[in-house]
Amino acid sequence: MKICVFPGSFDPITKGHVDLVKRAYPLFDKIYVAVGENSVKKTLFTLEQRMTWLTQVFEGDDKVSVGTFNGLTVNYCKEVGARYLLRGLRNASDFDYEKTISQLNNIIGKNIETVFLISRPEYSHFSSTIVREIIKGKGDYKPFLPDNIEIQY
Ligand code: ADP
Repeated sequence: MKICVFPGSFDPITKGHVDLVKRAYPLFDKIYVAVGENSVKKTLFTLEQRMTWLTQVFEGDDKVSVGTFNGLTVNYCKEVGARYLLRGLRNASDFDYEKTISQLNNIIGKNIETVFLISRPEYSHFSSTIVREIIKGKGDYKPFLPDNIEIQY
């Protein structure tokens, strides 16, 4: 069984995240989309809200399970039996950041491999950070979020 974890803040989940998971389908038997609870990062949406959206987006999808974890991503991987991590690359700054994390995880996770997918061009400018700014400004978030997500202003 090839099991992977797709970790993130998902604050909120965007079409870019969903596209990445869909493109990873042929590569894995099971994909855990997991919200890492980060004590330092201040999020716009509560963990509960982010989890509700993840559950909604991947409902009825046998290959995907949603979850949360505290602490190290590699410990969560061990818990669910995953030997692979999934991450997306949109640009060179993603690469610089991800390279270090992936090398560290490979050491502390005892050979856990991170699989990177380059974002589709139509999503490479999508980020949760930008979407949060749009939402804070009460702008039109619809082009960026999965179709079934509604936010009341
Ligand atoms: P984190 O806080 O760990 O960066 P995010 O929720 O922002 O979590 O992102 C999780 C993963 O999804 C990261 O690997 C990021 O590169 C990837 N990702 C985010 N947006 C996109 C996108 N538009 N296209 C492809 N990958 C993306």
